[in-house]
Amino acid sequence: MDNPQDMLLLLGEKSAKPRLLVVDDQAVNIQVIYQAFAADHQVFMATSGAQALAMCAANPPDLLLLDVVMPDIDGLEVCRRLKADEATRHIPVIFVTGHSDPAEETRGLEVGAVDFIAKPINPQIVRARVRTHLMLKFQADLLRQLAQRDGLTGVYNRRHFDACLEAECRRAARSRQPLSLLMIDVDDFKRYNDRYGHQAGDDVLRQVAQALQFGFARAGDVVARYGGEEFACVLPDTEATAALALAERTEQYIRALGIAHEASRVGPVLTVSIGVAVYAGGSGSSAEVEPSALLALADQQLYEAKRQGRGRVVLAVHTLGPS
Ligand code: GH3
Ligand code: MG
Ligand code: MG
Repeated sequence: MDNPQDMLLLLGEKSAKPRLLVVDDQAVNIQVIYQAFAADHQVFMATSGAQALAMCAANPPDLLLLDVVMPDIDGLEVCRRLKADEATRHIPVIFVTGHSDPAEETRGLEVGAVDFIAKPINPQIVRARVRTHLMLKFQADLLRQLAQRDGLTGVYNRRHFDACLEAECRRAARSRQPLSLLMIDVDDFKRYNDRYGHQAGDDVLRQVAQALQFGFARAGDVVARYGGEEFACVLPDTEATAALALAERTEQYIRALGIAHEASRVGPVLTVSIGVAVYAGGSGSSAEVEPSALLALADQQLYEAKRQGRGRVVLAVHTLGPS
């Protein structure tokens, strides 16, 4: 794996063309860079800092070639804002500058740029540097993916989920905001595997994961594969009524996928059971909420949903223990 194009495919991207965003208020400067990259990259262009920020927010590129001096928001400020936002902070920024003095270069590196290129640009040098930084970016992406994602379904893995739940529990207690935790388990999945085969079972897990990601898609929501056929979701700032509505909608949505399950004891199609635990937050107590307590509570509700016949949602609100 020694070129960015192959790395992209390894990351599961459909296109092998890295996406570059070139930002310069002078169209002629963009043109030179465009010509150097158009053959094997997707090149997007912006002629102002504001436009660049909007484009990065809407559809983050793999790398930014950024002019320093621009009339509206200058390059340094654009870089600073990108680095302050979780969604864009992994985009490598290379400054392209007409007057490179050490002070400017230092400022650029301090706000998070990975490199500096002097104008007028030399196409070969720009290509070589961009290639290096794309490789580093894709290697970092791959490492993050391997460390945080479940290989089969692509949703977060249990390790990442546990870290998120821990952080969200602390944040909920501190901010007195509610927090909901869902445990989702596929019904009669052993029977599904036995009837349709393990491959088909794997496909079902992917479909359920996708449905959950669709159903719990607010910023901050985390969907993870928690065990074999068990998923978990943490929904920050979500109280009981909302969590119940979301969980019920998702249960119905998965049912409506209409995945045939002739061996199910629930009905003709595949269903899930969902246990929901809610930390109400702000109810006159500064008590902390333990992730393990919330997990145990959600697990109990899941067990109860199974006991009541599966294909349903059961919810409980976390109450303060004796202390
Ligand atoms: P219940 O409704 O009570 O949850 O019954 P169940 O059959 O779904 O639960 P059980 O825990 O008895 O079985 C879970 C099954 O999930 C058994 C296991 O083979 C299957 N499973 C676990 N991980 C995977 C996986 O990655 N792929 C496939 N295809 N099956 C898996
Ligand atoms: Mg300029
Ligand atoms: Mg099951």
